[in-house]
Amino acid sequence: MTTPRIAFFGLGIMGSGMARKLLAAGFPVAVFNRDPQKAAPLAADGARICKSPAEAAEEADVLISMVADDNASREVWLGESGALQAARGGAVCIESSTLTVSWIKELAQAAAARNCELVDAPVTGSKTHAASGQLLFMVGGSDAAVGKAHPILSAMGRGVVHLGPSGSGAWQKLINNFLGGVQIASLAQAVALIERSGIDRDKSLELLTNGSPGSPIVKTIAARMAASDYTPNFALRLLAKDLGYAAGESRGLTLDLTMADAALDLFRQAIASGHGEEDMAAVVEVLRKP
Ligand code: NAP
Repeated sequence: MTTPRIAFFGLGIMGSGMARKLLAAGFPVAVFNRDPQKAAPLAADGARICKSPAEAAEEADVLISMVADDNASREVWLGESGALQAARGGAVCIESSTLTVSWIKELAQAAAARNCELVDAPVTGSKTHAASGQLLFMVGGSDAAVGKAHPILSAMGRGVVHLGPSGSGAWQKLINNFLGGVQIASLAQAVALIERSGIDRDKSLELLTNGSPGSPIVKTIAARMAASDYTPNFALRLLAKDLGYAAGESRGLTLDLTMADAALDLFRQAIASGHGEEDMAAVVEVLRKP
């Protein structure tokens, strides 16, 4: 069997690590990033640098996107020089960005119209997991398409969980980040309360993070909040995007995610205060200000 040729779109915090893992695994990879400066360093890893998604897609068997949001995904797949116009019939299209289920369903139809199949495969894990190939993929699509995507996803991750038809991975990811996002917003309020109460902050956080409220995300983010370390692992604006997507999509199922709305309000305040590009832990700063 010949090694599949891969086109990769989006070389941000996550995509750059993922594309490097594919190159290290021996796949031929053509890459595109909107800002070419982020693509250039991957040439040293063996990537073919392309000027458009279409150019990268021309010869590819598997196309992968890891971009910011619905608009960015629409641009790379269906934009003026979008990937789908150049995709070969039978190619597998993998969308790993965190997006709305509505957009994923539209994209799946657009891929089918080009004789390609879409697999939605968003991820859990962050910058370090992307760089070390330890992502977990939550996947939606047909058995056949997921089967073809599996070896490629396995080169970038520690697991692939197939949840159902197209859109299932996107649902799981929005639910995941809803539950993570409300914990971070609640943690920000808890940290502000600890600091205003005058009790010993380090001892308090140690008790909380080692006690029943200490979920993995609370443990990780509490340490960043305590150190005021907002080096971006996951940009605050992207978590706000995910909470908005989760709340919006659930309304279509006549369920109001009121917890997501409350958390989103806090994240929007943080964006308005200039923290959008910082790590999501920076949300606590809104509550630290007098
Ligand atoms: P990032 O560093 O901000 O990268 C975003 C990427 O999207 C960049 O390549 C950017 O290109 C591209 N992009 C944005 N708007 C575009 C447009 N209109 N047209 C074409 N490309 C566009 O974000 P990231 O942290 O890698 O996250 C990528 C995706 O993974 C997001 O959906 C995010 O929610 C999800 N995710 C992130 C994490 C995490 O921990 N970081 C974890 C799980 C999932 P430029 O470089 O040109 O701006």
